[in-house]
Amino acid sequence: MSEESIIVIGGGIAGLTGAALLAKEGYPVTLVEAHNQLGGCAGTFQRGEYIFDVGATQVAGLEKGGIHHRLFHYLDIPIPDAKILDPGCSVDLGDKSGLINLWHDPLRWEKERQKQFPGSETFWSLCSKIHESNWKFVDRDPILPVRNFWDLSQLIGALRPSNLLTGFLSKLTIADLLVITGCHKDRRLRRFLDLQLKLYSQEPASRTAALYGATVLQMAQSPRGLWHLHGSMQILSDLLRDSFLRDGGSLFLGHRVTKIFSEKNSNTFDVNVIDRKKNLIQMKASEIVFSLPPQSLLDLIPIDGGLSPTYREGIKKLPKPSGALVFYGAVSRYNLPTNCPGHIQVFDENFGSLFISISMENDQRAPLGMATLIASVFVDIDEWSNLDSQTYNRKKDIVSKEIRTILDKKFNLLETNWAHQELSTPRSFERWTRRPGGIVGGLGQHPDQFGPFGLSSRTPLKGLWLCGDSIYPGEGTAGVSQSAMMVVRQILAGKGRHLNIPVFN
Ligand SMILES: Cc1cc2nc3c(=O)[nH]c(=O)nc-3n(C[C@H](O)[C@H](O)[C@H](O)COP(=O)(O)OP(=O)(O)OC[C@H]3O[C@@H](n4cnc5c(N)ncnc54)[C@H](O)[C@@H]3O)c2cc1C
Repeated sequence: MSEESIIVIGGGIAGLTGAALLAKEGYPVTLVEAHNQLGGCAGTFQRGEYIFDVGATQVAGLEKGGIHHRLFHYLDIPIPDAKILDPGCSVDLGDKSGLINLWHDPLRWEKERQKQFPGSETFWSLCSKIHESNWKFVDRDPILPVRNFWDLSQLIGALRPSNLLTGFLSKLTIADLLVITGCHKDRRLRRFLDLQLKLYSQEPASRTAALYGATVLQMAQSPRGLWHLHGSMQILSDLLRDSFLRDGGSLFLGHRVTKIFSEKNSNTFDVNVIDRKKNLIQMKASEIVFSLPPQSLLDLIPIDGGLSPTYREGIKKLPKPSGALVFYGAVSRYNLPTNCPGHIQVFDENFGSLFISISMENDQRAPLGMATLIASVFVDIDEWSNLDSQTYNRKKDIVSKEIRTILDKKFNLLETNWAHQELSTPRSFERWTRRPGGIVGGLGQHPDQFGPFGLSSRTPLKGLWLCGDSIYPGEGTAGVSQSAMMVVRQILAGKGRHLNIPVFN
């Protein structure tokens, strides 16, 4: 392997996107993935006749101009077959008031929210203005946070007068917007916002940055939207892998990076990798794109490996991300209500938010007449660490039953209706993705750490780059693709090249 080559660590959507782009630009790229399968949190697994999406079940950014569409077009790979979700999600606040449907048509959504949350239109129209201004900014590919002159030039190039106005709101939360618009007394609206924001920002309204929250609250509406992929989530990874291999990339599946180090004053990195047979392989690279959670750096780079104590301390002090419990089940479609929405978020006193995704007939996840049903909740990873196997298994059984009971109640199901059921915990996610402790979903989008105030893709080690769900703009397959594109643009800029991926609106 040439010392000029680039190693991408991690073959989830972030790593795959970065690797495919760099290979397309003609660089010798090696992608190292610990699992025998690509996709990470957006991967899939099979149980008999059923295919389950491990984590991500909905995709944003597949519409014309959306980030996946842009990148797939640029990489010259087909846009995967997908259906727009309408509603994008149906929310059950648990107050017997029926479902709140996030319709794709903005006018229909406006009528829905006027019916559901009378008197809240000032709040929504402020969110819409922020949302419009944000998208104009995002489409110009800003670099955030800014760490050098080139980053600054890209940020300034992306700014428009409307962003300067919304910039004044950068330290506010969604709860602050409720106060400003006089909607803070509407408890139903607050519960709705807390639930939805938890999904996208890991934080409730009182802790979600207004500029971030205003955008994700309108993800389901045209001209954006949420999509259901035909087949499974794995298609995203398969297509990116095809692009990467077509452009000469080298893929090492089932190979785990165990150490990254760089001698003082050296321009290259040495990377230790353990293969499937537990052999040690040593690789060299001039640049590393690191798509694992930043917390993994602490284990992979030795104390004397070039990261300053201050940087290491900063990583240690990052807010602790959540873990997830995911229930994977299968039932006969005839046991589900007719016109059952594909994605339902339910408020539950015990778990807070329960997000349910149901497969569509003929989408290849289940045989005809059957449906897969995936339900996820957020948990504190500490509740699942350091348990002996007996306690762990007992806890797993209890929680699995608790989640199933909510689903049984919601859909009038009996225990005998379940053709399959299993639960994954933070421990399972740690095994599947090697994320420390099973953390998922990035750092959260609090005003102190979103966008301009977040963790930079540049690290103190020249040539070591971060992307993935802890880096701007944050979690989700669309977010991590954007972060990977940003890093590739930065790497190319360092080599005197400019990467321009057109937006077709
Ligand atoms: C329950 C749940 C539901 C979600 N729902 C949605 C949704 O509906 N829509 C959406 O857009 N997003 C959703 N997300 C978020 C989304 O899945 C993630 O933000 C995104 O997939 C993260 O991609 P990534 O590439 O940054 O990280 P990962 O997917 O974690 O990829 C990292 C990769 O690195 C590999 N790796 C780790 N350590 C090593 C090592 N030492 N050496 C080599 N390889 C290594 C892992 O095996 C993994 O493949 C959900 C997440 C979860 C957990």
